[in-house]
Amino acid sequence: MTKFNKNTCINEFDRSAISVEKALSMIVSTIKNSQKYEKMNLKNSLGRIAAENIVSKINIPTFKNSAMDGYAINTKNLLLKNNFCLKEVGVSYAGKPYLKKLNKDETVKVMTGAVIPKNANAVIMKEMTRTLNGLIKFPERIKAGQNVRYVGEDIKKLSTVIPKGKQINFIDLGIMSSIGIQNIKVIKKPVVAFFSTGDELTQVGKKLKEGQIYDSNRYLLHGLLSELPVEVKDMGVVKDNKKKLKEKFLKAAMDSDFIITTGGVSVGEADYVKDILDEIGRINFWKIAIKPGRPLAFGNIKNSYFFGLPGNPVSTVITFQLFVLPAIEKMLNKNIKNPLFINAITKSTINKKKGRMEYQRAKLVKLKNKYFVETTGMQGSNILTSLAMANCYIRLPANTSKIKKGDNVEVLPFSNKF
Ligand code: AMP
Ligand code: MG
Repeated sequence: MTKFNKNTCINEFDRSAISVEKALSMIVSTIKNSQKYEKMNLKNSLGRIAAENIVSKINIPTFKNSAMDGYAINTKNLLLKNNFCLKEVGVSYAGKPYLKKLNKDETVKVMTGAVIPKNANAVIMKEMTRTLNGLIKFPERIKAGQNVRYVGEDIKKLSTVIPKGKQINFIDLGIMSSIGIQNIKVIKKPVVAFFSTGDELTQVGKKLKEGQIYDSNRYLLHGLLSELPVEVKDMGVVKDNKKKLKEKFLKAAMDSDFIITTGGVSVGEADYVKDILDEIGRINFWKIAIKPGRPLAFGNIKNSYFFGLPGNPVSTVITFQLFVLPAIEKMLNKNIKNPLFINAITKSTINKKKGRMEYQRAKLVKLKNKYFVETTGMQGSNILTSLAMANCYIRLPANTSKIKKGDNVEVLPFSNKF
């Protein structure tokens, strides 16, 4: 056992614990798709979810044009008889077209993006031509079609360029502007309220007293939620006080689609979340066969979905990523992409007990065309620094135990934006 894999949980088996897959499928099947839409300017739609298919009303390119600065020709007119020479009869600029047809002995000078004559079938780069006796001399071997951008080769009229449910990224902004879309219908931002629970929690900026800790979960959730197309409502910290907690829950439920809390869902004496939810809502209180992040509460208070995440910061992050994110995405009608796993070779032995699926924080590197992975340090659910150093999770199935150095493991790289 390496010092980084010190395992403080004695018993990994818990017959009442449900699998990650089961919890996820129960959550996702409970959440209803949002039916709330809004129309907005294209620029503002970045990061939002398309609420309808975006269909192009035009072809892109809309006209046959040149991919180069050069000369537009019809290859049939280049013959030994004319010594592969043609007469320049005009210039076509991007935005200022030459609109006549080419006659037998003619060529037109064209700029990149400029309209080329209807009967031209190739553009020859300027650098491949020369002037000879006042005419333009072309190379002898020319392929029809070269350097021509054809109508609709990028986007065909009436084709769907953005499917409903897609999260709009910068490329989509480019595509939609290229077909002249000014406004787009997107899913309204669901409201996500969250607060931390715990007598030990202190706000940043205040002095810590003995036994107190700073509230980091609220900042983690603020960060995680800010990347999503949701309205983020930070409701602060609530003490482990049944009355105060209940008031806060009722307030949050007034105008939120989701309520997320952290802490108070284990079986400690000050863990009231379950009791309160039993009174004012409906709750499933699950032990999930996952590490980190075993306890999870999921249910509803009035019309809000409720997630009670475990208090340890790394558990908060992982349970958010695994369970809350797909729930929000379901409400957003977002098309779900399957996460991309990579097989990598572990650089060290990993100690694990059978019973729970584990997400270990690790670093993935590529060496000589092979992927290697190494854990980033202590894996306790309170150790946030090993998450900060990681660029991936190693996912270890529930039924595996010891993983030896050199074994293959499944790795989930952290998303990068593009
Ligand atoms: P609990 O689920 O309330 O029993 O908390 C489990 C652990 O997470 C305890 O060590 C708490 O002090 C810690 N914890 C709970 N909430 C937070 C928070 N907001 N920020 C940092 N640590 C927390
Ligand atoms: Mg607590």
